[in-house]
Amino acid sequence: MASALTEKLSRLVKEVRGQARITESNVSDMLREVRMALLEADVALPVVRDFIARVKEKALGAEVVGSLTPGQVLVSVIQRELAATMGEGVSDLNLAAQPPAVILMAGLQGAGKTTTTAKLAKHLIERRKKKVLTVSGDVYRPAAIEQLKTVTKQAGAEWFPSSPEQKPLEIARAALDYAKKHYFDVLLVDTAGRLAIDEALMAEIKQLHAALNPVETLFVVDAMQGQDAINTARAFKEALPLTGIVLTKLDGDSRGGAALSVRTVTGAPIKFAGVSEKIDGLEVFDAERHAGRVLG
Ligand code: GDP
Repeated sequence: MASALTEKLSRLVKEVRGQARITESNVSDMLREVRMALLEADVALPVVRDFIARVKEKALGAEVVGSLTPGQVLVSVIQRELAATMGEGVSDLNLAAQPPAVILMAGLQGAGKTTTTAKLAKHLIERRKKKVLTVSGDVYRPAAIEQLKTVTKQAGAEWFPSSPEQKPLEIARAALDYAKKHYFDVLLVDTAGRLAIDEALMAEIKQLHAALNPVETLFVVDAMQGQDAINTARAFKEALPLTGIVLTKLDGDSRGGAALSVRTVTGAPIKFAGVSEKIDGLEVFDAERHAGRVLG
C-alpha cells in the first residue's frame, strides 16, 4: 500500500508525458516541484541543492524496469534519500553509562531547553522508570533557574539548587556529586543560551561537556527558526560532539524544514519533537511523518 509520503511525492513529481526513460532533462523537470516544496518549508538553500543533486545522480543511475514509470522510480529514489537524510526508525535516549547518566542540553536562548529538560525528565520517569535530577547552569538569568525549578516540580523530578553567584562548572560538579551520592539514574543539565552564537558561550559549554562526560549531548532547536537553523547547528556541531537533536515548537505552523538542515549539518539523529508548551508536549520524532510535513 502506498504511504501518505509516497502519495505526496507522487503529486509533486509530475510525470513527463510519454517518457520511458529517466534523462538529465526530464529528471530536472520532475524535480522542480520538490525543490520548491523544500524551499517553501525553509530548508536551507545549500541543503536543498545538495539533496536535489544527490537525487538526480541516483535517479539517472536507476534502471526503469517493468511497468514502472520514470516518475515512480524518481519517487522511490527521493523517498530513500529523504529517509537517509532525515533518519529512519526512532531512537530514544541512550542511558548506557555508569549512573548517573548525564544529559547535557545545548541551544540558543528561547529554543526551548528548559521546557525540554522538564519534558525529558517526565519522559524518563514515566516511560523508563528512572530517578531523575535536574540542574540549571544558567547563572546569567536567575529567572531561568527558577523556571527550571518550577517545571521540574511539574515533571515530578528533583531539582538541584544553583545560584547566579556560582560558576557553571562548580554547579555541574556539585550536582553530579549529589546525583552519585543519592543514586540518581539520570542528571539533566540545562545550560545558558544566548540570543546568538558567541564565543564565551561555546567555551563554557565545551568546558561543561569535558567535566561532565555526558552520555547524551542534545541540541535543542526551534523548528520556527527557518533558514538560520543551519548556522546555529553548524556552530554547536563544531563545539560539541552532539548525540541527538530535539526539534521544538512543531505545533507552530512552520513546515519544519529546519529538521532537514540540522540533520544534514550535524549528522545527529532527531530524537524528539516538542509539540506544545505543556510538560507532556513531547513526542518521539517520526521521520517519515515529518518528511511528509516538510513536503507540504
Ligand atoms: P530556553 O531559553 O532554551 O530554555 O527556552 P524555554 O524552555 O524557556 O522556552 C522558550 C519559550 O518557548 C517558552 O515560552 C516555552 O513555553 C516555549 N516552548 C518550548 N518548547 C515549546 C514547544 O514545543 N511548543 C511551543 N508551542 N512552545 C514551546
